[in-house]
Amino acid sequence: MQGLQSVRLQCAFCGEPIEVLVDCSVPEQSYVEDCAVCCRPLVLDVVVDEDGVPSVAVRYENE
Ligand SMILES: [Zn+2]
Repeated sequence: MQGLQSVRLQCAFCGEPIEVLVDCSVPEQSYVEDCAVCCRPLVLDVVVDEDGVPSVAVRYENE
């Protein structure tokens, strides 16, 4: 598996389920994405394992 994959997450602010697109060609990355529901900035820490499966941790900015 490669390329963009959609990953389901839960917003750290409002608790709503959201879906983000992860670029699985990058093994490790962090970026900020605004929640589609409450528009607050979430920091996504993305790690892609050797099988190309992404795992995403959500945290608050400035933490
Ligand atoms: Zn939210």
